[in-house]
Amino acid sequence: MAIDFTLPPDVVATRARVRAFMQDEVAPTEARMMSEGGWRQGYAALRDKARGAGLWAPHMPAEYGGMGLGPLAMACVSAECGRTMMGAYVLNCHAPDEGNMHTLLHHGTEEQKERYLRPLVDGRVRSCFAMTEPEVAGSDPTGIRTAAVRVGDQWRIDGHKWFISGARGAAFAIVIAKTDPEAEPPQARNTAFIVDTDAPGFTIVRDIETMAGRGNHCEIRLENVRVPDAAILGGRGQGHRLGQARLGPARLAHCMRWIGTAETALEMLTRRALARELHGGVLADKQLVQGMMAESAMELYAAKLMVLHAAYLIETGRPFRQEVSIAKHHVANMLWRIVDRAVQVHGALGYSSDAPLERMLRHARSARLVDGADEVHLQQIAAGVIAAFREEGSTRRATGAELL
Ligand SMILES: Cc1cc2nc3c(=O)[nH]c(=O)nc-3n(C[C@H](O)[C@H](O)[C@H](O)COP(=O)(O)OP(=O)(O)OC[C@H]3O[C@@H](n4cnc5c(N)ncnc54)[C@H](O)[C@@H]3O)c2cc1C
Repeated sequence: MAIDFTLPPDVVATRARVRAFMQDEVAPTEARMMSEGGWRQGYAALRDKARGAGLWAPHMPAEYGGMGLGPLAMACVSAECGRTMMGAYVLNCHAPDEGNMHTLLHHGTEEQKERYLRPLVDGRVRSCFAMTEPEVAGSDPTGIRTAAVRVGDQWRIDGHKWFISGARGAAFAIVIAKTDPEAEPPQARNTAFIVDTDAPGFTIVRDIETMAGRGNHCEIRLENVRVPDAAILGGRGQGHRLGQARLGPARLAHCMRWIGTAETALEMLTRRALARELHGGVLADKQLVQGMMAESAMELYAAKLMVLHAAYLIETGRPFRQEVSIAKHHVANMLWRIVDRAVQVHGALGYSSDAPLERMLRHARSARLVDGADEVHLQQIAAGVIAAFREEGSTRRATGAELL
């Protein structure tokens, strides 16, 4: 038998530890913080506990103080984290720091790793990733206007960014800026810079109000910000490539967490349907409600398989772009539909803030925009189908490489 879906014993054991930590520590603390109205205060203590329990920075190598897990094991860990609001933050594997750590690990110089990666993994600082701009379409990063111009032995950066998650309180930003406006192809025009957020000229304009409230998704301005050559991350003209390399695994990490959230919503739907009495029975007796359960179960199962397969491709160094795009689109939309069904089955309670579902639904909406909007992934997936057919006379390569 070539395929073995059995998870390795060490992954099962790690998942059990993370599951217990989320159930016994994070979920009750979050519930208490929510009821007391100040839901951020308890996280420092939880992070200390996670570190003490050996559940710290699971995606980072042991030499940096992490658990050294690969994408497959991370799929299990992240799904458990996604069952709570801030579980990933508690374990120090939340967006955007998780993606930034990977980027620094794989593309940073030794000096950059010591100065930026180590404190990030230690949890002493946070970071942000600044690519999107209000004036140009974020779906086409070649249009970025933020410019980095060489002045003497420094770079001068001027630009305007928005929706920069985690910017307030971050120690540094990975900023994508245009350094070579005439370069061909256009993907070679951008460069990534590490910019300290206390650098003169780096200003946080506001925390943008979204349909999910204020989530530290900031508008920032860079005016005459000066950085040395040593601030370039991954090489001049490599900004686009680095962004793509970062986004593949980072997108999948989002998917892993969203699976945990969707599973939580389906459990809430089921619990409610089994308890809510009407017409001499319960909601779960109704075929229309069973249909919602069945649709959700099928979509969730497909999501798990897609994410595990894409994680396997990344872990084994195979091409993963098509599968990550398929997984990202499917999981983001699956999340939206399952949380929406859970709201429906809860009736007025689901629509109210007495239950967490309305908040989950508002947060879920951004999944179809972040890390590539739905349509960008659909276009990418279709391009993969066409290329596979043209080159091989079959679409097999584009529908789950090497599967069937
Ligand atoms: C909560 C949140 C957090 C974010 N965090 C960050 C962050 O930390 N750092 C960062 O740099 N950015 C961040 N973003 C920005 C995000 O990456 C962009 O919103 C996204 O890339 C889309 O860019 P845009 O908003 O400029 O939309 P546009 O590019 O203007 O696209 C608008 C719409 O056009 C449609 N569209 C786009 N391309 C195509 C196409 N090829 N075919 C058909 N239709 C298309 C899609 O429906 C899309 O939603 C965040 C956004 C949100 C909502």
